[in-house]
Amino acid sequence: MSSLYKTPLTALSGVGEKRAQLFEKLGVKSVGDLIEFYPRTYEDWSVTETIENTEDGGLYCVKAVVGMPVSDARISGGRILSKTVVYDDTGTMQIVFFNNRYISAMLRSGEEYFFFGRMNQNAYGKQMVSPMFASSADGAKIHPIYRQTAGLVTKTIRGCVDQALKMLPDQINDPIPEQVRRHFGLIGLRQALCDVHFPDDRDALDAARKRLITEELLVLNLGMRDLRTRSRGVSSVKIESDYSSEFESLLPFELTGAQKRAIADCVNDLTDKKTPMNRLVQGDVGAGKTAVAASVCYTVIKNGWQTAFMAPTEILARQHFETFKKLFSNTDINVVLLTGALKEKEKRLVREQLSSGEADLVIGTHALITDKTEFKNLGLAITDEQHRFGVAQRAKLLGKGENPHLLVMSATPIPRTLGLIIFGDLDISVIDELPPSRKPVKTVLIFSAQRGRVYNFIKSEIANGRQAYIVCPLVEEGELANVASAEEYAAELMLREFSDIPVGLVHGQMKSDEKDAVMSKFANNELSLIVATTVIEVGVDVPNASVMMIENAERFGLSQLHQLRGRVGRGEAQSYCVLVSDNRSQQTGERLKIMCSTNDGFKIADEDLRMRGPGDFFGQRQHGLPQLSIADFADSKSLELSQKIADYILYVYKDLRNEELRLLKAEVDRLFNRGGTNSLN
Ligand code: ADP
Ligand code: MG
Repeated sequence: MSSLYKTPLTALSGVGEKRAQLFEKLGVKSVGDLIEFYPRTYEDWSVTETIENTEDGGLYCVKAVVGMPVSDARISGGRILSKTVVYDDTGTMQIVFFNNRYISAMLRSGEEYFFFGRMNQNAYGKQMVSPMFASSADGAKIHPIYRQTAGLVTKTIRGCVDQALKMLPDQINDPIPEQVRRHFGLIGLRQALCDVHFPDDRDALDAARKRLITEELLVLNLGMRDLRTRSRGVSSVKIESDYSSEFESLLPFELTGAQKRAIADCVNDLTDKKTPMNRLVQGDVGAGKTAVAASVCYTVIKNGWQTAFMAPTEILARQHFETFKKLFSNTDINVVLLTGALKEKEKRLVREQLSSGEADLVIGTHALITDKTEFKNLGLAITDEQHRFGVAQRAKLLGKGENPHLLVMSATPIPRTLGLIIFGDLDISVIDELPPSRKPVKTVLIFSAQRGRVYNFIKSEIANGRQAYIVCPLVEEGELANVASAEEYAAELMLREFSDIPVGLVHGQMKSDEKDAVMSKFANNELSLIVATTVIEVGVDVPNASVMMIENAERFGLSQLHQLRGRVGRGEAQSYCVLVSDNRSQQTGERLKIMCSTNDGFKIADEDLRMRGPGDFFGQRQHGLPQLSIADFADSKSLELSQKIADYILYVYKDLRNEELRLLKAEVDRLFNRGGTNSLN
């Protein structure tokens, strides 16, 4: 049969051009897409409650008989109020609708219906306002609820999906081989597609979801593994000698054991003549990843190759530039900076130095991957704070050389199961040890009324020569006025509390050279206090800073708070983090207390993922992975199952290119390209 992905929606009865356009808004262009437009959630009408047992505020499905004809009345504002009373064996409740002239025709006195809605109970009795309802003859079902758009509601979508499913051929080729399905208890694709929309009961729904979720993660898993094993070919970048011990003599400190191990892993990769290095160095904030990167780049440069080091922000690039320049000041290594903020003339000069080979090491932002940047002989590409870049940007940097070595660094502690997928194409070294003499940051949670005491504390720290940060959330348009605005707040602090202390302000709307100017003053201890929005979140290193106060702490995710907190506790002094929040709802309280109880980034990341899901966890869609339609990155159980199945499949069938896996391979291509063919062909 011809592909349902090529069948336009207008093939369905009741769908004309106009409705098809509305569907397109939801990303649904073909009948095949519609079948994969999985419900957002479900209403379970299969579990009913007696009227007597319902409680105020709860969501219920009640099976009851309409006790009297619906009465319509005109009320204030010209609205129509329709009401009636329904009953079951245990009691009665009132049903009320607003502005629906058809209710009286749809609800018949004496007949039994399911009513699904929220229960209100007051002195006069029980009531549901505008419940959903269906005749009890239709049976108690689990109803799919779809993502909708103006003019296209769940009810309409349901009807269209029902038609689309009827167009499925009796036999569809299943991308997961039957043997694998049997082994892992997965139902067939056809059954799963039908049941995910219109399940007969909970069990059928669970089985359908399990099958579809597992398949999606399996496909993702296989795709990422394929990226990894697809050999990047023999590296033309020959690294003969290891200069890492020579490098150590340049450092003002001793490397930790974990840093040494990470460097050794890299040197191993570099000198292995077969494939280029493909390594992620992961370490909590402050673990000292920069020194590892510096060592690796020293070895590469000493072997006669260039290195490119890409950072996600202007500030960070500039800071790394300063660090490396200082570190390499007594060597013949020529370090240059290339960022968007440079003047055109300066950029041109740097680019000339890169293409002529005069510059050995370039540190920069996205400016590094524009077409204009060319290298004489790029041997190593490094990306810092990898989670800020997509897979594509990483690839672009690599493209600046002939199969150069790759080192990526990330402080975002990604839970293990997820890390396996996201970084499935990379080997991993973990820096699981902080430099010695670091004291864990002490974290406390306070109400805004206690702010004054924190100000006093900050003043005393500053009097002792330390520095501090005060962070407040960015003000977005249309936000409530009670959210502290960084700018006004800084002005206020400068005028009052800290009038005799040098205060700087950094916020997102500032030009990057303005931000840099403030940050470098802070780094030089010309400023004692920085009031900032989250732009300081990534990587900034001022070891003398010992206090961080975070306003409206509830507005940040846990991982973000952890990153922020990582800006202090980088020196030898005891450091403090003060979370200010008046929001004590249960969930918020629980979240913020986790911050007070642990400094372990991995534990925090797991909690964050559990509580908020991966969308928020990553801030924006910046992990570079394809978008999932039913699975969820936070679902570690399914991630693990898919991992197991992928292992099994590759064990049994050896290679994704095996003929038996033809359809699964097509799914991999489809997920990574979003388009193309698939099993419904
Ligand atoms: P991150 O892993 O977050 O990128 P950095 O590389 O910025 O951390 O290092 C944090 C701070 O720790 C820097 O000031 C750095 O100079 C210092 N540092 C790194 N390694 C060591 C070490 N082995 N001993 C002492 N200080 C170190
Ligand atoms: Mg860093």
